Amino acid sequence: MRIHELFAGEKPVFSLEVFPPKKNGSIEGMYRTLAELADLRPDYISVTYGAGGTAAGLSCELSSHVKHRLGIEPLAHLTCINSSRSQVEQVLDRLRDEQIENVLALRGDRVPGLEPKSDFSHADELMRFVSGRYDLSLAGACYPEGHPDSESLQADVESLRRKQEAGAKHLVTQLFFDTDPYFRFLDRAAAAGVTLPVQPGVMPIVKLGQIQRTVALSSASLPASFSKMITRYEYDADGLYKAGIQYAVSQCLALLAGGAPGVHIYTMNNADVARQVYQGIRGALDREEGRT
Ligand code: FAD
Repeated sequence: MRIHELFAGEKPVFSLEVFPPKKNGSIEGMYRTLAELADLRPDYISVTYGAGGTAAGLSCELSSHVKHRLGIEPLAHLTCINSSRSQVEQVLDRLRDEQIENVLALRGDRVPGLEPKSDFSHADELMRFVSGRYDLSLAGACYPEGHPDSESLQADVESLRRKQEAGAKHLVTQLFFDTDPYFRFLDRAAAAGVTLPVQPGVMPIVKLGQIQRTVALSSASLPASFSKMITRYEYDADGLYKAGIQYAVSQCLALLAGGAPGVHIYTMNNADVARQVYQGIRGALDREEGRT
């Protein structure tokens, strides 16, 4: 199934993101997490590609597991900054052999100590290469609050048009906590001729450590309500867990109410958080439609 076709339907597209276990992580634990996520029947599960392509094999294997063992459509991430053309081809050949039909094509981040290869400078170049050789539904990344390398939001939006021209069929955003920049970004992208569905990425923040690691790296702006939540539950781990889930549910509902074509949850491989967020969204939507 081609993921981009889902956006033509009436229902919001609900998806989940996982990352392959780290070097000493358990693959069995990962399979258990994926099985729990699959029980939620998301429209698709995306599987990240380790920084610098370090977990390429595992990423393909997990995408294949999601498709063939769990019966959920996978979106396999692929980065190019540290890969030659032939290395990219090897991964794509393997994905084709596993009948994976959907790829999120990315440049990737520079990895300290790894010299970038010169075959692909940007995601749109990778997309053009893939579109010419493989029959895949391509997705791309976007940044409502700007990519750190960009000189301006306008330059970023221009790069999205290049992705569209290179064959991207839908976009997934970087995480953010304030919904206003997302909607302003949609207007800016539309004005620049970007017609692709832009699925917002939401990360439930349920632990203080996530703020230092992920939030700081993403440079997402923090609305007052978010900062207040963090201050209030700074010394109350259980309270932050519940409040973080509630914040993510409210954020998803506000995005959907504003017309977002779905939501993509950065699960951090935490099936309990994904389940609670999903049930929170589903319950609220059902109540709105008078089903409960
Ligand atoms: P690009 O689209 O190439 O953009 C990077 C910068 O270059 C931007 O500033 C853009 O405006 C500019 N630019 C783009 N095209 C051009 C051009 N033709 N000429 C000049 N400038 C240009 N990283 C991983 O390592 N593994 C993952 O699995 C992964 N998954 C991700 C999933 C999502 C949804 C998102 C949002 C990010 C993900 N990342 C992942 C992080 C991503 O690799 C980094 O943000 C990376 O720095 C940029 O990748 P990109 O594909 O957006 O790059």
